[in-house]
Amino acid sequence: METISNCPICNKNLFTPFITCTDYTVSQKDFQIVTCNECSFKFTNPKPTNEDLGSYYKSNDYISHTNSDKGWFNKLYKTVRNYTIDKKVKALSKYNAPSKTLLDIGCGTGEFLNAAKIKQWHVTGLEPGVDARNLAIKNYGLHVFDIDHLAKLKPQSFDVITMWHVLEHIPNLHETIKQLKQILAPNGTLIVAVPNSNAIEAKNFGRFWAAYDVPRHLNHFSAKNVINLLKINNLDVCSTKPMIFDPFYIAMLSAKYQNKSPFFGLVLGIYHGLRTNVFSLINVQHASSLVYTIRHKK
Ligand SMILES: [Zn+2]
Repeated sequence: METISNCPICNKNLFTPFITCTDYTVSQKDFQIVTCNECSFKFTNPKPTNEDLGSYYKSNDYISHTNSDKGWFNKLYKTVRNYTIDKKVKALSKYNAPSKTLLDIGCGTGEFLNAAKIKQWHVTGLEPGVDARNLAIKNYGLHVFDIDHLAKLKPQSFDVITMWHVLEHIPNLHETIKQLKQILAPNGTLIVAVPNSNAIEAKNFGRFWAAYDVPRHLNHFSAKNVINLLKINNLDVCSTKPMIFDPFYIAMLSAKYQNKSPFFGLVLGIYHGLRTNVFSLINVQHASSLVYTIRHKK
């Protein structure tokens, strides 16, 4: 384990313990999340060393990287995933993309990239999980590399860069944002989706809130934290939108961690999903997860 002595966003060194959560997916161990006294950013501290982090991703339950059809939960997950992939690909056409170059970081098994490729995008993926990466290459013939390939990509070479639920896993925030800024075309768009630590259902579930997902989630961002991180790096957040399916999924998983029955989990999932979406219509800061559209500062 490694103790972080400076805030990953503002670099100050005074923190307050916030909450202790259990890793229900892999290790069953407890991990502490602290809040920076200066900028209010929450992060897992201490965290596993970069060498040890990989061992916390080894589970059959880690369904974001598999294609299992087993059980109603995975079936539902896949149906929603296919719908959201379609929406994401349609949204790509809104952006300024003269050469239609797209980079997806944390592309998993490559379904989003493949859907974009079918719509004539020139796609590249980065994925640290070797099994997921090999499936993306084998199933769709995609150009997918390990995450360290990020440093080797050509400057200003991508019209659109997407990171769907990735930034919360990344240990070196400023270094990563600087690399993204460098490879993003001058009029390009960076799309970042992360869980929102101010989500209304996070307050209800407390330490059981599934989007804390310690220790895989190192960073627990509020909208203010994301805007601050990007501002320091001379990038602008142009829009902030809620992801409407996330609260249903997160609430069902949180109920599972609370040992609720699958039926009660489904009821809670529907209740919190609807409730969070109504609240985020009033104020986006209540959303379960947020999608940020980011551009170079003009
Ligand atoms: Zn801070």
